[in-house]
This record gives sequence, structure tokens and C-alpha cells, in this order.
Amino acid sequence: MSLTEYKKKRDFEQTPEPQSSHPDEKAGPIFVVQRHQASKLHFDFRLEADGVLKSWAVPKGPSMNPADKRLAVLVEDHPLDYATFEGEIPEGNYGAGTVEIWDSGTWEPDQEYKDVLTALEKGLLEFSLHRKSLQGKFALIRLNQSNVKDGWLLIKQHDPYEVKEKYDAYQVKSKH
Ligand code: MN
Repeated sequence: MSLTEYKKKRDFEQTPEPQSSHPDEKAGPIFVVQRHQASKLHFDFRLEADGVLKSWAVPKGPSMNPADKRLAVLVEDHPLDYATFEGEIPEGNYGAGTVEIWDSGTWEPDQEYKDVLTALEKGLLEFSLHRKSLQGKFALIRLNQSNVKDGWLLIKQHDPYEVKEKYDAYQVKSKH
């Protein structure tokens, strides 16, 4: 659990974002996708692991079309409480702008849950999402030879939920 960087970047007197997490008993690990209108509009993709939300910023948003390879930049771990955060981060603060929940639900790794951190260290995590907008199998794959620091790809994997047509998360209404 490492929220040091998260806390260092924020002044909790100024921002309504949650400060710490209070993990409680749940059915399974959660995921959340937040639409974040900051200096640049983007989506934040977060998976619960190791008591925090492992987080990636996805400029184009996730896709349900397996042909899309969406850049996902690994950012600092966020507290579990962040999964329910929506609102305004005041100007002058880190990530200033509007956060809206675009999708949330539970997720399930293809391997044993205890091996998730190892999978992330190795740079390949295959998993399923259980929700209306994002459903079925996905993979996160680290770009090892890339100019983008902490660059990963978020890719929909073939399954009955995939779509063949162009998928633009910005045009998909939040099912939240
Ligand atoms: Mn963000």
C-alpha cells in the first residue's frame, strides 16, 4: 500500500478528493473508470489490488473493440475510496477539474488474485470486467520499449462482448 505520492500531490484542505482508504469486506475486487476533465480530457482506469486502486490514465478512453490498442499511462496508486469520488478538484490543485464516474463494477484476474501484483510487475495482466459499459475480457500490457514513461496498452480481448464497429468512450453515455 503506497499512497505517499498520491497524498504528496494533494492539499486535502483544498480538494474534496478522499484522503485515505478504509477497506471493508466486499464481494470481489472493484474497478472504476472515471472521466476526468482536467487540463486535458481523459479517462482514468482503476483496478483494486493490494488495498489500493492501481491506476492508469487513458487519453482515448477504454474500447470494446479488440482492434484498438489504447495507451494507458500508469500513474500513482489511489485510495480505494477514490472509486466513489465524483466532483470538482479546485483550480490550482493537482488534477484540477471535474471527475465523473463513467463505469464501475467488479473485476476478476485470469490468474489467482494473489498473483496480480506479480503479473503487474511482469507487465501483463489479463482480466475480466463485470459491468454494463465495459464487459468481458481485457488485457493490460506494458510497453517495454516505448518513449512513453510508464506506458501500457489497454486492449479488449476477443469474447462475445466485443464490438466490431468504432468505439469511442467519449460518445458512450455513463451507465453509472
Ligand atoms: Mn485523471
